[in-house]
Amino acid sequence: MKVAFIGTGNMGAPMARNLADAGHEVTGFDTQAPMPDGVLVAASATDAVKDAEVAVTMLPNGEILRAVVAEILPAMAPGAVLLDCSTVDVDSARAVAREAAAQGRRFLDAPVSGGVGGADAGTLTFMVGGAEDALATARPLLEVMGARIVHCGEAGAGQAAKICNNMILGATMVATCEAFALADRLGLDRQAMFDVVSTSSGQSWSMNTYCPAPGVGPTSPADNDYRPGFAAELMLKDLGLAAQAAEAVGATTPMGAAALAEYRTFVEQEDGKGRDFSAMLPRFAGKPGD
Ligand code: NAD
Repeated sequence: MKVAFIGTGNMGAPMARNLADAGHEVTGFDTQAPMPDGVLVAASATDAVKDAEVAVTMLPNGEILRAVVAEILPAMAPGAVLLDCSTVDVDSARAVAREAAAQGRRFLDAPVSGGVGGADAGTLTFMVGGAEDALATARPLLEVMGARIVHCGEAGAGQAAKICNNMILGATMVATCEAFALADRLGLDRQAMFDVVSTSSGQSWSMNTYCPAPGVGPTSPADNDYRPGFAAELMLKDLGLAAQAAEAVGATTPMGAAALAEYRTFVEQEDGKGRDFSAMLPRFAGKPGD
């Protein structure tokens, strides 16, 4: 399939590379990041999409998505599918879906879970919002990039699922980090803490798969000096999206709000910017470089 890929950052690069490795003809564009091996370089986003059957976007936020979409939609072939894998607000996803429909293009919001490791291994989970026929067109690509595809409903439903998932992730990461810091002060060995919690009722993805303590559990950004991975500022963004969505529909989300406050302080007033979101642990432990 002829595929355009806009946004080849931490996530987009391995996703685009996997598509190229699977034999798809991938043409990419990014304002800063280089193209991965096997991906043709376009001079602009418009150039990248003009012959594509599916245009994939993997961009930082809804504002950038809306700007890029305004540029590329008219250049896309009629009936082509715009497959947005970024994490953005539900309103942006629905606005882009309406604009695509008005211009005779099809749209899917398909945010992902699984992190850079999942992007690299082609084992992401896709949460998809949009029409069945568009999903049928995009499915062969999703199957290359991911291991699980959940059709959540109409446009915006994928982003709704993603925001709820990441609100849980943010809250469990804060809880896991503060518990490690408490365990330190109680004199409990970190390996013992991991061995117990990862097999007990305190377990979560944050502990079992992405353990925030270096040298403990599976390899994670903690073992790479907390280089992201999933940056703390992206978690701050997602918790902000959850708070915004909760306010819009009158939902009560106290744990999401508490996690949002922690990440806001960490990123905006401390040294969290540019660090992995699991770097909450040295913050709580108060031991720099831990
Ligand atoms: P990133 O910042 O590494 O990549 C985004 C890329 O978009 C950058 O390379 C940037 O140069 C490019 N870009 C920005 N504006 C552009 C424009 N106008 N035209 C073309 N390219 C442009 O971020 P990432 O970690 O790859 O995340 C991308 C998206 O995926 C975000 O929405 C994020 O929330 C989501 N996400 C990230 C992870 C993760 O673990 N990193 C996991 C799940 C979802």
